[in-house]
Amino acid sequence: MGKRDRLAKAFVRAYRIEAYTRQEGRCIYCGAFLSAKTATAEHIVPTSRGGSDRADNIAAACADCNSVRGNHSVADFLKRLRKPESCAPARLWICHFNRRINKAVQRCEAFIEQARIRGIGR
Ligand SMILES: [Zn+2]
Repeated sequence: MGKRDRLAKAFVRAYRIEAYTRQEGRCIYCGAFLSAKTATAEHIVPTSRGGSDRADNIAAACADCNSVRGNHSVADFLKRLRKPESCAPARLWICHFNRRINKAVQRCEAFIEQARIRGIGR
């Protein structure tokens, strides 16, 4: 790994911790409590879609949400959550987090709105 990649990784790690603190230790999507170790860096716009490694593109999410979301856009992911029949893993996940889901979706939409205002997430 080159020096530049290592530096980028270090920034992502720092931004993940920052997001974790900002989200009061909860996953951006399901609201599950995370530890600083279990929090994963969630790229709001996936890097595969041109999303950056900057702080305004990084949130903290649990590993489950991060993997269920995969490369879907956040808007698409939220749609899938509302129509769980379209995505089997998300359906299982909803059963698990059912009570937290509405709050999580609201929080996430607020985050997307902020991101949109700052000109990312499009
Ligand atoms: Zn989660």
